[in-house]
Amino acid sequence: MHEFSLIEGVLNMVRDSASQNNIGKVNRVKLVVGRLSMALPDSLHFAFEAICKDEDLFREAILEIEEKEIMCDCLACQRSSELKDIYSFICPACGSNRIEITQGRELYLDYYEGEEVNGAGSNGG
Ligand SMILES: [Zn+2]
Repeated sequence: MHEFSLIEGVLNMVRDSASQNNIGKVNRVKLVVGRLSMALPDSLHFAFEAICKDEDLFREAILEIEEKEIMCDCLACQRSSELKDIYSFICPACGSNRIEITQGRELYLDYYEGEEVNGAGSNGG
């Protein structure tokens, strides 16, 4: 359950940041997840909900995931292409295996949104 520890790490960061910024309730957490990170969005959502339901800070939080395609630069033909097959690292344009992955390994917290503890009340949204 690689996704559980990932989500725990992300929530720890949000928790630290929230306490520094007087955030009492987190509404949204946005993650960027590359396809090569091997983290499955469904499992991330599952882990997120399982952990969040027990914690007031995150109880109403929504997890948003932006998936990044795998992109590679080919050293043979100099083209950048999207790599569709993650199990064969071959340039889709020329078939060379001399490629460098330039995108797709990402896995990070993009941002989160929350509400401050004090100053609660409607703001006419
Ligand atoms: Zn190539």
